[in-house]
Amino acid sequence: MKRRPLIAGNWKMHKTVNEALAYIEAFKPLVADVSDRDIMLAPSFIALDACEKSLEGSNVALGAQNCHWEDEGAFTGEVSPRMLADVGVTYVILGHSERRHLFGETDEMVRRKIEAVLRHQMIPILCIGETLEEREAGKTLAVLERQLKEGLKGFSAGELKDLVVAYEPVWAIGTGKTASPEQAQEAHAFVRKLLSEMFDEAFAEKTRILYGGSVKPENIVGLMARPDIDGALVGGASLNPDTFARIVRFGRME
Ligand code: PEP
Repeated sequence: MKRRPLIAGNWKMHKTVNEALAYIEAFKPLVADVSDRDIMLAPSFIALDACEKSLEGSNVALGAQNCHWEDEGAFTGEVSPRMLADVGVTYVILGHSERRHLFGETDEMVRRKIEAVLRHQMIPILCIGETLEEREAGKTLAVLERQLKEGLKGFSAGELKDLVVAYEPVWAIGTGKTASPEQAQEAHAFVRKLLSEMFDEAFAEKTRILYGGSVKPENIVGLMARPDIDGALVGGASLNPDTFARIVRFGRME
């Protein structure tokens, strides 16, 4: 089954509002004719509202990088799913390894965030992935299984109908070390098999699984050629509009 690719940019803690708007003005024309795949940009929270207005009417969707699980309350410094939906966010990246490792997010917190995002009709992008230590200890598949099963515990296939999973080996994020297309394909095929066991085959077949970890214009073609890789979650290389446009276009700018 052919799944519609999604190329998603995660700007992390980069770009002021003005820098974000300048990027979008430069980026939109570079991808305006792309109609066979989805494109998403995830700026910082404070740039979301301005970016949404700037992206209006374009083929680029708006994403957020995180959210809290409650709609409101005494949670100083947090941003709620209700607030994200209100400014027109479509996708929310959840369980990114930086959130898990630097900010102590657990599988249970990620599960609650998925529930919150679904409650507001946004699309969760669930990030999973092993550390170098876990890979070297032969625990990669066990880690992926735990993160996927715990993160998606209690949901039905219907509730998760638009779910996106991102396989992001922690050792490949921001390090310049990409997983080889074979390593990524092996993990993606495993995740798809798990989704089929947890839900059903139709669900597994239609769910998009992105690869993330030092994706660049030079390696996107090899990754996208693998049967279970349905797109990319791009950090560093999404910060430059020309570079990200080349990734979106799978290396071709004509
Ligand atoms: C990411 O942060 O999701 C990521 C994959 O980063 P990078 O592309 O910089 O490795």
